[in-house]
Amino acid sequence: MANLFSALNRSKILSELRSVPFDILVIGGGITGAGIALDASARGLRVALAEKKDFAFGTSSRSTKLIHGGLRYLKQLEFGLVKEVGSERAVVHFLAPHLVIPEKMLLPLSDKKSVGYWMASIGLKLYDWLAGVRKEDRRLMLTRQKTLRAEPLLREEFVNGGALYAEYRTDDARLTLEIIKTGFEYGALPLSYLRITEFIYADNKITGARVMDVLTGELLSIQARVVVNAAGPWVDEVRDFDKSKKRKRLHLTKGVHIVVAREKLPVQQAIYFDVPDGRMIFAIPRGRVTYIGTTDTDYAGDKDSVTITKSDVDYLLQAVNNTFKGIHLTVESIESAWAGLRPLIYEEGKAASDLSRKDEIFESPSGLISIAGGKLTGYRKMAERVVNLVIKKHFQTYRLKECQTYKIKLSRNPFLSFKDVMEYENTVYERLKSFGFSHSTSQYLVHTYGYQTNEILDYYDKNYLSVKDAELALLQSELRFSVHHEMVTTLADFFVRRTALIYFDIEKVQKYKKVIATELGELLGWTAANVQHELKQLENVIFESTHFG
Ligand code: FAD
Repeated sequence: MANLFSALNRSKILSELRSVPFDILVIGGGITGAGIALDASARGLRVALAEKKDFAFGTSSRSTKLIHGGLRYLKQLEFGLVKEVGSERAVVHFLAPHLVIPEKMLLPLSDKKSVGYWMASIGLKLYDWLAGVRKEDRRLMLTRQKTLRAEPLLREEFVNGGALYAEYRTDDARLTLEIIKTGFEYGALPLSYLRITEFIYADNKITGARVMDVLTGELLSIQARVVVNAAGPWVDEVRDFDKSKKRKRLHLTKGVHIVVAREKLPVQQAIYFDVPDGRMIFAIPRGRVTYIGTTDTDYAGDKDSVTITKSDVDYLLQAVNNTFKGIHLTVESIESAWAGLRPLIYEEGKAASDLSRKDEIFESPSGLISIAGGKLTGYRKMAERVVNLVIKKHFQTYRLKECQTYKIKLSRNPFLSFKDVMEYENTVYERLKSFGFSHSTSQYLVHTYGYQTNEILDYYDKNYLSVKDAELALLQSELRFSVHHEMVTTLADFFVRRTALIYFDIEKVQKYKKVIATELGELLGWTAANVQHELKQLENVIFESTHFG
């Protein structure tokens, strides 16, 4: 068994996928597929997972990056959804405290006498109650003065009060990856760049799938008793392979976020504000930047390359410029941006913003189980429902455990609490400061890798002490770690989904892309032409993140 989740073990994992019959084959390495693979393997099932690009390539790296209860779903009277995802926030924080970080959200309110103010007050109370929020984290209603003190940038004329409530911020792609890695430790075999192209049948029932190794073009078959389609926005495309796209179908909506330097929008804290069309938008400070989102518009274009239009960014810029005083953001202020697709369930006559975020499971006559909808935050409960169904249908006679994922920490060496996370940040800082790094670097490392930062710093000490540019040496150490432990296979895997530098520090990507491409080439045995190809692919991603047609 290939016992390290290393890109250098890819061929070993491939040969196991080819030879072993599995209980479940999961299609899609977003948070939904990752959650299912971990849940099923922890219960004792033999699981394979195929992802056609990198893990979290789809929506799971392009969200608002919040583990949140979805306050606005109260407006749609989706109490069940709010209760489930609201309660899950604390569970996911417990599972990965370094990656799911408490963040107070400020909700400015415009008219204290209006229904909106009282709706917010009662709604937030209901939200806390439904989600079982701890006393110290419960919502706090603020006077006008206190709201403006909390966020002096707000235009006074629009503020008549406010509320502070508890949410969590995360890195969606890293959360997905840690779930994938934990599943691997429980015996699942997940592999990226493995695209399902068709199903294999016996007596009209699916018994596996044919897949293509996207890196080599090789075709192989994976045998499995059950196939679960967790392909997010591509769920219907995969159902089409089975000719089972009947009745319910997906409705995709696009959500765009833009990133500006923190000094261009220096909000004190995360803020969730109204825009004139009745929607709400987040502005979230993160390290050296603030990001703003999201839009919500119907989408029917290419799912593999979702473009950002001028009107997407204008909508967000206008929302910010109207809400905060002295802020005049323009397209030139934008450092980077991303666009994601919500895989929602189609409902006749409903506008994009009004569609339910609930998940649904579809079963086809051939036995294909598809899951769509839902949220990052609710991934664990979605997985539990799918695995319960799979067991009920196919493995009743097996002696399998109940769902275990509420207590499986998402890191080999987990933190017990957020206090431990903060203490460890200081320890890392002590180790790094002699190289000239600030506390923000240790915070970035710990919030990104948790205790695995030790391994990265060990690589630094062992391989890169002679590199004069300490920032580069640290980046090279992160690269080495992510190749050997996180299946980094392409340059974009590293810059987009392992480090998120393409969104939150694109200058660093520009500065180091060539030397990192060469280093990755050495680690993975690329030719000079491979290195050039990878740089070209990365340029395409940079272009998509910085050009708005
Ligand atoms: P995906 O992440 O898209 O994964 C599906 C995967 O399947 C893809 O990686 C794809 O490459 C793969 N695939 C497709 N076809 C094949 C094939 N033939 N073979 C192999 N693999 C295949 N939720 C929250 O809780 N908090 C938020 O803050 C939040 N913000 C959001 C903001 C936006 C703009 C959007 C769009 C969504 C947001 N969500 C949020 C919702 C959340 O991000 C999604 O519900 C979730 O990421 C969906 O995950 P998924 O695994 O179902 O889909």
